[in-house]
Amino acid sequence: MEYLDLTIKEMHELLKNGEITPLTLSKAALERAYKYQSDYNSFVTILDDALNAAKDLDDNVDNPLYGIPYALKDNISTKGILTTASSNILKDYVPVFDATVVTKLKEKKAVLIGKTVLDELAMGGSGTTGHTGIVCNPWDKERMIGGSSAGSAATVALGIVPFALGSDTGDSIRKPAAYGGLVGFKPTYGRISRYGLFPFASSLDHFGCLTRWVEDAAYVIDALKGKDEKDMTSLPDDNKIYSELLDGKVKGKKLFYIKEIIDIDTKDINQEVQATLDNFNFVLEQCKELGIEVEAVSIEKKLLNALHPTYITISCAEVTSNNANLTGIIFGNRQPGDTVDEVMFNTRTDGFSELIKRRFVIGSYVLQKENQEKLFLNACRVRRIIVDKITELFKKYDGLILPATGGIAPKFDQKFDKLLDRYLLLENHLVIGNFGGFPSITIPSGVVSNMPIGVNITGPILKDSEVLNMAYALESQLGYKGIMAKGGNKNV
Ligand code: GLN
Repeated sequence: MEYLDLTIKEMHELLKNGEITPLTLSKAALERAYKYQSDYNSFVTILDDALNAAKDLDDNVDNPLYGIPYALKDNISTKGILTTASSNILKDYVPVFDATVVTKLKEKKAVLIGKTVLDELAMGGSGTTGHTGIVCNPWDKERMIGGSSAGSAATVALGIVPFALGSDTGDSIRKPAAYGGLVGFKPTYGRISRYGLFPFASSLDHFGCLTRWVEDAAYVIDALKGKDEKDMTSLPDDNKIYSELLDGKVKGKKLFYIKEIIDIDTKDINQEVQATLDNFNFVLEQCKELGIEVEAVSIEKKLLNALHPTYITISCAEVTSNNANLTGIIFGNRQPGDTVDEVMFNTRTDGFSELIKRRFVIGSYVLQKENQEKLFLNACRVRRIIVDKITELFKKYDGLILPATGGIAPKFDQKFDKLLDRYLLLENHLVIGNFGGFPSITIPSGVVSNMPIGVNITGPILKDSEVLNMAYALESQLGYKGIMAKGGNKNV
């Protein structure tokens, strides 16, 4: 039996019965990690020490994550373990403390087997900009897995670990989940402490996980949630055990989708987009089968077209400020210079790629005193209008349902026309979840041209358990539960 192909609950049962040990699982995980690394490049660091950690665990199988191997995006601080954020500027950085999520997973006796590649500093959505090279999609090596939690997604899609943590500022967990045939969940803003996560845009950053089953996501979030004194934005625990609340009873729930995002201009529709839209219709039918009512709601196109520019304005402003400490003085791979200014200039010139510099230029521009009112603060106002609109709709509906992406994972050389509706709307609506801090989940909904696609459900804040339960019911109904790509072997 391939233990790593099982669910967390199944592994847990075997551990409890003494049929396997944590070492069995960690060994298998490391074997797969090494086997796939040269082809898919999902890790910055593979931790051989995992075997010792697994060996040293006590025998008390006291929680579902005991002995379960996992991976972490490399923008999550791990004491004594290289943490690079996939950027040259941090290529030698070794944190002196653990992120709270890491402490919690240690307490649960889960076993960390590696740190995964991201788009540099979590900016980007392709998995192609990390300093250790591109990450390939386990379903097709010619395609990207998406990002920025690229390595975490590829690692789970390859069946190396049953779960990996990622961060999500615009869509960075939920988009690679769709491209990798995975479940990607980010709970309500503040549900999980961000202490030790390298900040990108603090008002939008969320922790979350990539798994192959909704139930596994519930186990992971159960282990991570709760108030943390070290993160003042963290929420008090809701004292629910999400995994125990998954009953699939969703009859009578009401969802809406945004008409303007689905009825996109026909000039944007190629075969692949059409297949994605057809799949969405299939999802809607399955919702009906489950007794979930879905209605189309109209939202002013002008507002929807503002989603992406608003995201770019706010996130670039925040990331420019948050990364101002990467100067080579306290943090960052210091480059020589005769003056402090020269050291900072040389360090930043050498340390960041062009894409990052471009975002810092945008961020500095919108934060300039004379531009703040017109650009940054107006973007914040637009964000508020969008969040108010969605929150108002959540009074009537239990959630928003939409295709997670506008198609299958793109090929590495594929270009998007960024002014088309397909891009501005279908590829970018997931930021709604970050604007409002709403819990949001992507699950696999179908296969198009041998590649997976996903559907997304976003719910009202604090309704994490309800969102998980709707996804849980739909996951069974759709029939793509636990699909897996193993080194290109489609296992649907
Ligand atoms: N792709 C988006 C960006 O580049 C989102 C990134 C993220 O969520 N970390 O900003």
